Amino acid sequence: MILTALVVLVVLVDVLRLRSRASKLRVLAMGAGEHKLLTATGVRSEDSWDAGDADLVDLVPRDLPTVAALDLLGSVDPAKYRSDRWARGASASQAVLVRDEYAETVDPDDPTELVAFVRRVKDHVHAEVDIAVAPGLKAGPHDLGYRAATLRQIGKRPSLWIAGSMIGYAVVAAAVVVDWPWGLVALAAYWAHPVLVFAGTPLRPRDLWVPRFVRTPYLWLKTAGGKKSTAELRQAETLKQAAPWYTERLGRDYHEARRDTCPSCGSSDLRRWVTAHDLVQRKPGTFTMDRCVRCAHVWQNPRLSEEGLGFYYRDFYDGLGESSADAVFSGKTAPYYGRARMVEPFTTPARWLDVGSGHAHFCLGAKEVLPDTAFDGLDQGAAIEDAARLGRIEQAYRGSFKDFAGELKGRYDVISMHHYLEHVRDPWEELDIAADVLPEGGYLLIELPDPEWRLGRLFGQYWMPWFQPQHQHMMPIDNLEHALADRGLITVARERSKAHLCNDFTLALLLFLGAKAPRTPAPWRPERVRLRRVRSFLVWTLGIPAFFVAVALDQTVNRFLAARTDRGNAYRLLALKA
Ligand SMILES: [Zn+2]
Repeated sequence: MILTALVVLVVLVDVLRLRSRASKLRVLAMGAGEHKLLTATGVRSEDSWDAGDADLVDLVPRDLPTVAALDLLGSVDPAKYRSDRWARGASASQAVLVRDEYAETVDPDDPTELVAFVRRVKDHVHAEVDIAVAPGLKAGPHDLGYRAATLRQIGKRPSLWIAGSMIGYAVVAAAVVVDWPWGLVALAAYWAHPVLVFAGTPLRPRDLWVPRFVRTPYLWLKTAGGKKSTAELRQAETLKQAAPWYTERLGRDYHEARRDTCPSCGSSDLRRWVTAHDLVQRKPGTFTMDRCVRCAHVWQNPRLSEEGLGFYYRDFYDGLGESSADAVFSGKTAPYYGRARMVEPFTTPARWLDVGSGHAHFCLGAKEVLPDTAFDGLDQGAAIEDAARLGRIEQAYRGSFKDFAGELKGRYDVISMHHYLEHVRDPWEELDIAADVLPEGGYLLIELPDPEWRLGRLFGQYWMPWFQPQHQHMMPIDNLEHALADRGLITVARERSKAHLCNDFTLALLLFLGAKAPRTPAPWRPERVRLRRVRSFLVWTLGIPAFFVAVALDQTVNRFLAARTDRGNAYRLLALKA
């Protein structure tokens, strides 16, 4: 009875969510337009549709197979999709209408390529991208072999999906076994799920009649196996080519000599604070961070050599799987707005430079708060040039802050550095440059992870912001304020709990499980793990209930702790050059 109630409740909530999305799918009118039609292999159409004033419309066939349609509705909310700058591009991988200026040649045999293409267009700040049902369009064959690759592309873990689906299936089966009359109600609800989602909406999947309890085990098998996408194969090839480079360097010691004085205040009273491993890529090595007892500065000691940093950064930002990194950075918009709003009471900047800008997601968000401000970005990686091409910033500077210091001097009303100083070898030198580049009356905005946050000490290496081996220095806010004052910058505002993100428990669990689950071999981790899939599946299955607990702790204990103490896992500081 309880199990049945649970099943019915979960099914109902999911049906309501997906149904409301499906019913909001627009149906395109027939008619010719100036758009070009791109189709996947096997998709047939004798009709044409009017895409209106959109630059790209993803075409959804009415008869899109059930699994494809459910996955699509899981990743896109058609009601908000077009107007939401932050919604990632989504595609049914069947056909698109696109204006010539955005058209590309896309591999028609790999469904993830069509998704990647729609994403690239949607990422343009000025592109209008929509999704709609195209009546008369006949869906092509749905290759379930690509399902896992498609899930990975939208930042989901196939093994986590399988584990979740199996738990649901087991609960239904248990309900039938334990108390069959009520169990049949649970089974009926489970069975009816897809029918309830699509009845009365513009979608009529052609395989809706296949019973869910038959389809689902087949789907586990298909999702567990599966092909690699073209992009994944390309990435694997890149990694393969890097293998000799890694082989040559594995086993080297990249640590410099340990320092016995604090780089911030010179004190020799130091404590070992964190001992950590590379939990993200799992490159070999042990890293330690010390804390100065006098001033509370925390830093990597011994620090990595330049060569060592090269070793650990290599293949990181794409090796991690760019989609999951991207999902992390583009998902949370609140910090972007929060930073821009912190500046609002003091000045309305005409020109703003964001140093360490990455993909310039911050600039995109800040522009919504400060529409009249021109944003430029500076970073070492190619992403910054991409950000300019996509219209997120006006000017991209690719290189180090030092390289451009002369050219940038006096040109910006605000310079910002968000989660940047902890990555550099000498944060004080960066502050020197910032103080020099800013004109009088200019503002410097800094956001950093807060080494004084209690959960940081508690979670040890599993506290995400320690982020070894990349993070070099973690400055307490008072030290930063003093360092700025020494350079003629007066702090005008600080935010602590307001800069906090309630995610410490969840991210720590993610790192913990990620460290326990075996990984596919990489050039820096060549050994094959026996029964990798099975073990990975077990770790994530056991991890699912723990995730609910972690999220609950974040929303209660973590939130309360931050509000109560006015502290958090990050802080912001705004300073004026007088
Ligand atoms: Zn110190």
